Amino acid sequence: MMDEGERRETVRQRLRAALEAETLSARELSQMVGIPEREVYGHLEHLRLSLRGSGRELAVVPARCRHCGFLFRKRDRLGKPGRCPQCRQTSIAEPLFRIA
Ligand SMILES: [Zn+2]
Repeated sequence: MMDEGERRETVRQRLRAALEAETLSARELSQMVGIPEREVYGHLEHLRLSLRGSGRELAVVPARCRHCGFLFRKRDRLGKPGRCPQCRQTSIAEPLFRIA
């Protein structure tokens, strides 16, 4: 049986391989790797840092308000925002991720 550290490494390798192949949302990644969506964001933060200086990066397609089209460009956090600052609607298209 794998210990916690090994399990985390394996999850990160699988996330990385998935993101090198296609553009995915955190929800899709959580289904592919079999972990809760909220854990995916933590792994993505780690991946973003570990790619620094490697010539590759975690590319983020920003979340977008489905109501008015507002783009959440200036977000440091990777998670899905709850509410649009422009029109106050809560129907937000998820951010998408890829290793580029
Ligand atoms: Zn909006």
